[in-house]
Amino acid sequence: MVESFENVIIGGGLAGLVAANLLAKHGKPVTLFEKKTFPFHRVCGEYVSNEVKDFLLREDLFPTLQDYTQIDQFTFSDTKGRSTTLPLDLGGFGLSRYVFDDFLVKRAMENGAVIQAGTQVEQVKFEDDHFLLELSDGSQFRAKNVIGAFGKRSKLDKRLGRDFIKKRSPYIGVKYHIKTEIDPRVVALHNFKGGYCGINAIEGGKANLCYLGSRDQLRAFGSIPAMEEAILWENPLLKEIFTSSEFLFEKPEVINEINFEPKNPIENHILMAGDSAGLITPLCGNGMAMAILSGKLAAEAILNYKSRFEIEQAYEEVWKKNFQRRLQVGRTVQLLFGSNATSTLARHLIQNVPFVADKIIKSTHGKPF
Ligand SMILES: Cc1cc2nc3c(=O)[nH]c(=O)nc-3n(C[C@H](O)[C@H](O)[C@H](O)COP(=O)(O)OP(=O)(O)OC[C@H]3O[C@@H](n4cnc5c(N)ncnc54)[C@H](O)[C@@H]3O)c2cc1C
Repeated sequence: MVESFENVIIGGGLAGLVAANLLAKHGKPVTLFEKKTFPFHRVCGEYVSNEVKDFLLREDLFPTLQDYTQIDQFTFSDTKGRSTTLPLDLGGFGLSRYVFDDFLVKRAMENGAVIQAGTQVEQVKFEDDHFLLELSDGSQFRAKNVIGAFGKRSKLDKRLGRDFIKKRSPYIGVKYHIKTEIDPRVVALHNFKGGYCGINAIEGGKANLCYLGSRDQLRAFGSIPAMEEAILWENPLLKEIFTSSEFLFEKPEVINEINFEPKNPIENHILMAGDSAGLITPLCGNGMAMAILSGKLAAEAILNYKSRFEIEQAYEEVWKKNFQRRLQVGRTVQLLFGSNATSTLARHLIQNVPFVADKIIKSTHGKPF
């Protein structure tokens, strides 16, 4: 006889951890499986849009003890390093995932969730109105509800036969923590040929430097340092940061196969949350806010509805309403990045027609919730 769980969450990023916290706070039994062990670094720009702040404070999920930084300005530079700065209406804060995720794990456990870190879910099948899951140690169990919060790319995507996983992606993501001289109120996006690099202050007097680059360029130059010197340093602002900063990691965090293709918010009856449901292009700076909101919406669908049909219908509707258009706009705006001509055009737009930039920012962001 296999063990039965009521609510299972696969993946302990922001989407999964927020859903675990909310379900547990409402007295629901919930078990979250995360393949890694906390705390750990992830590839992420670590600029969190303020749209999540009220919610996190309301739910006691805001890490108030950290000296996180308030960010209210945006600097954009084209591939030649010509830059412009504009104020951000809503703004955000800088906080490392190492601190943020670990805080949410502790809160989830205090709230009564079971967190099984260091445990990978190998397989999830749906049969007889229940899920059957298999873990890396070979054990199996049943679950009534499953939230899939396993991020941009997981072996489960392959097992589920999801379309996006069949296509190769040209992007890589690279992240460092650095000590550098920057204005802590500014989130910067510096273009280079084939990608863009974000820099913003986080806690502890550190800054995050994270870029979306090209797999082909990495292959052509053979190593990350060689590629950075040949490609990123062509932007003089990036060269200045790379050559004058202290790099705090022994080696960068790197991921490949970052795919922005549309996905389905429900797959084989699993409620997909965060990047598992759709990854917004990083230039928008609100993938984390979307992960947090979608974790909340998935938990609420389970809390507010009884039948599987109602839960799925409610979640799909609210997910599409909140995210479908933002994801589309994000994919389109990304076309303005990563080349000399388009990044120059984007800089002109930001500088000379600021209401257009403002409109784009608004249409990729949600409202505080
Ligand atoms: C280069 C880059 C820069 C970015 N910069 C920003 C930024 O500045 N601001 C912002 O808001 N967003 C940014 N984002 C987006 C943001 O990082 C993501 O949208 C966010 O992390 C999504 O959270 P999540 O919970 O969906 O997934 P994740 O945080 O990726 O968590 C998924 C978890 O699932 C686990 N997992 C996977 N498979 C399994 C399995 N089978 N069993 C158990 N566990 C599993 C993984 O180990 C992982 O911990 C950036 C993204 C990229 C690529």
